[in-house]
Amino acid sequence: PHQAEIIAVGTELLLGNIANTNAQFLSQLLASAGVNVLYHTAVGDNPQRLRQAVEIARGRCDLLVFTGGLGPTYDDMTKETVAGVFGLALEYHPEVMEEIQQYFDRVFHRPMPACNRQQAMLPQGCTVLHNPVGTAPGCMFTAGGVTAVLLPGVPHECRYLTEHAVLPWLRGQSGGVIRSRDLHVFGLTEPQVQELLGDLMDSAQNPSLAPYAKPGEVMLRLTAKGGSDDDCQERMAPLFRDVRSRLGNYLYGVDVSSLEEVVLTRLRQQGLTLSTAESCTGGLIAKRLTDVAGASAAFLGGVVSYTNGVKAGVLGVPRDLLDRYGAVSAPVARAMAEGVRRLTGSDLSVSVTGLAGPDGDDRGNPVGTVYLGLSLPGETLVRRLALGGDRPRIRLLAASSALDIIRR
Ligand code: ATP
Ligand code: MG
Repeated sequence: PHQAEIIAVGTELLLGNIANTNAQFLSQLLASAGVNVLYHTAVGDNPQRLRQAVEIARGRCDLLVFTGGLGPTYDDMTKETVAGVFGLALEYHPEVMEEIQQYFDRVFHRPMPACNRQQAMLPQGCTVLHNPVGTAPGCMFTAGGVTAVLLPGVPHECRYLTEHAVLPWLRGQSGGVIRSRDLHVFGLTEPQVQELLGDLMDSAQNPSLAPYAKPGEVMLRLTAKGGSDDDCQERMAPLFRDVRSRLGNYLYGVDVSSLEEVVLTRLRQQGLTLSTAESCTGGLIAKRLTDVAGASAAFLGGVVSYTNGVKAGVLGVPRDLLDRYGAVSAPVARAMAEGVRRLTGSDLSVSVTGLAGPDGDDRGNPVGTVYLGLSLPGETLVRRLALGGDRPRIRLLAASSALDIIRR
């Protein structure tokens, strides 16, 4: 099976009481096994509408992954409804009953309620996906060229069965291995990446190239299927080189976890230390740097100088600069960066001063105007940014841009 649809069952999804997070990780896990997920469907606990959803899904996909509605209560009707569409009845599995009874003894220390018998009823001829982390077993069956996988709704149970039963089955089917490389890009929007790499995304099959949006950045995943690890790496190499040369310095890392991690690694390698002076980001840069374990090897500390009083009093930004140019200005960004470098004795420092919104300032600077300062031994560089978005997004992009300027 290579074309999948994920069908989440539960009225609470449609009411907006919970987010369909199962579909999210199911998509990620299936993609990691080389399965293309074409549709996400969410449907309430309603047999008629679920039946309809299954009819549609099996007409367009050959792997249907269900989550939710395997429980023992009256609203849990995924098994009988899905089996019904494929013309299968439910049959009683005594060994499953035994397992559920044991789970109650072991985990709940009480006898199993009668209604849980229902959970031992599974579609004729299915493969049982035994569930040691909950009561509802999953199951899967193939009929008419379509495979249906039924998983519990409880997220950790759904994930457990996917990782321990579904993925091994998929890997066994393809008989090969799948490897991927994640390319992390900052400073280009998704459309710009599309412009640069669109021809490769459209044409490359094995390996394939697909974009994933991350807040404020773009991640590209290169995926190859092959007979072995080496085979996959060999397949990926030419496309990887092409993509890397097209992205140039916008590519900040491959298989890394974050921009801040890359910055810290680079500083450590060069034996340099860093400090920060933040206004509109309110400490976000320092927060992100210290999210990385071992940050103290390179990051000394920072000042959140949110008011002019602290910019002048702590960082030593000259009063007349603040009066003449305003807090959101190139000279102030420069003085902030130099000030914190003097205070901490770091080799490098970055500063951020800007307007995160909702309003601009009385000097005619619009929302999203941000100045970054980078102070190095012997020189200080200043950059002006015009960022778009709401307040959280402007702050995120300002912090990421500051990290990026250090990296470059
Ligand atoms: P149970 O045996 O617990 O009844 P079940 O398979 O019947 O399991 P549901 O009753 O549909 O599953 O869901 C159990 C809980 O799992 C829900 O209350 C909800 O919090 C969570 N859940 C269900 N579906 C999803 C989903 N698609 N995404 C995230 N969480 C979900
Ligand atoms: Mg339930």
